[in-house]
Amino acid sequence: MNLMEARILDELRAIVGDRGLVCSPEELHTYECDGLTNFRVMPRAVLLPNSTEQVQAIVRICYRERIPFVARGSGTGLSGGALPVENGIVISLARMNRILEVDFPNARVVVEPGVINLDVTGCVAQQEYFYAPDPSSQSICSIGGNVAENSGGAHCLKYGFTTTHVVGLEVVLPDGSLVHLGGKTLDTPGYDLAGVFVGSEGTLGVATKIILRIVKRPECIQTLLAAFPSTNEAGAAVSDIIAAGMLPAAIEMMDNLAIRAAEAAVHANYPSCGGLLLVELDGPVAEVEALMTDVNEICRSNDASEIRLAQSDAERALVWKGRKAAFAAMGRISPNCAATGDGRN
Ligand SMILES: Cc1cc2nc3c(=O)[nH]c(=O)nc-3n(C[C@H](O)[C@H](O)[C@H](O)COP(=O)(O)OP(=O)(O)OC[C@H]3O[C@@H](n4cnc5c(N)ncnc54)[C@H](O)[C@@H]3O)c2cc1C
Repeated sequence: MNLMEARILDELRAIVGDRGLVCSPEELHTYECDGLTNFRVMPRAVLLPNSTEQVQAIVRICYRERIPFVARGSGTGLSGGALPVENGIVISLARMNRILEVDFPNARVVVEPGVINLDVTGCVAQQEYFYAPDPSSQSICSIGGNVAENSGGAHCLKYGFTTTHVVGLEVVLPDGSLVHLGGKTLDTPGYDLAGVFVGSEGTLGVATKIILRIVKRPECIQTLLAAFPSTNEAGAAVSDIIAAGMLPAAIEMMDNLAIRAAEAAVHANYPSCGGLLLVELDGPVAEVEALMTDVNEICRSNDASEIRLAQSDAERALVWKGRKAAFAAMGRISPNCAATGDGRN
């Protein structure tokens, strides 16, 4: 370490304290990659700020000293977005994990970027609301990472991706200045700069506050599981469902390899078959029941050998747990396929 580096590290330590600065080689290994584990780069230091002001102070130093920095949420990204630049700085938002406001009358939740996706639904579920974007990694990935990646999940077919649910942002720009994009209302006047930021993969700045839209839980949710001889018949059933004018809350297909991997990992009680379809409908009871009869018929006409309707919330959760575990479960078949790291505490 040269004198310049020692001086900069001291300055950074003064911002976040000893516990907010990681610079020992052993600890830095945690941050050398994200879910794309084939690419690894050691950063010079990792900073764990706990406020917007601390993020600004860190970014200002990086700007002044021309040090490259990368924001990091939970490190589950699969595109190398949180991969450090060699000898650069990683700004981990893991400690900025507070839910700042729950505003039921306006159906909004204001969070810090390190809040875990599933915790948003967790904090509004009692009032029959949920946060719709549900990447399979939702029990660990952060809202900040979701924003940067415009993440989606099974329920985005009907409800839309992250960009549909982010209405406002507080962002630290690369020179350390602070901007507010969008707001609590939909379609704030002017350019949709919050829309530009969502999906920009961390290249435009660091999100330090995010205003999310939450959605009222529908009156009825039904989840059907249908087993087909192969993905050809399952795929044909998907086409027929969409062609019939239905918009399921979610529709997902799994092949035999994915079924076996997920079954071994989670024991979701999936039937053994060549192609499995999960179809979820939601809405008013009468509508869901009528459309589910149509889905049943479409599945049968495409050679479904077994059709099951989840009988309880617990059964429904298990069906989805299997599907959401499928990617991680692939690690059982191909060890290089999925792995994540996280420095949260
Ligand atoms: C098992 C598994 C299943 C997955 N399933 C899905 C899925 O169904 N759908 C899907 O879309 N993705 C999925 N992913 C990918 C990943 O989980 C998502 O992209 C997720 O949004 C990443 O969040 P993160 O907190 O881990 O972000 P990280 O990996 O830490 O970072 C991702 C990007 O966001 C940037 N970033 C992080 N925080 C901020 C911030 N505060 N401000 C600005 N930029 C920031 C980083 O610089 C990086 O570019 C899956 C990953 C795994 C491992």
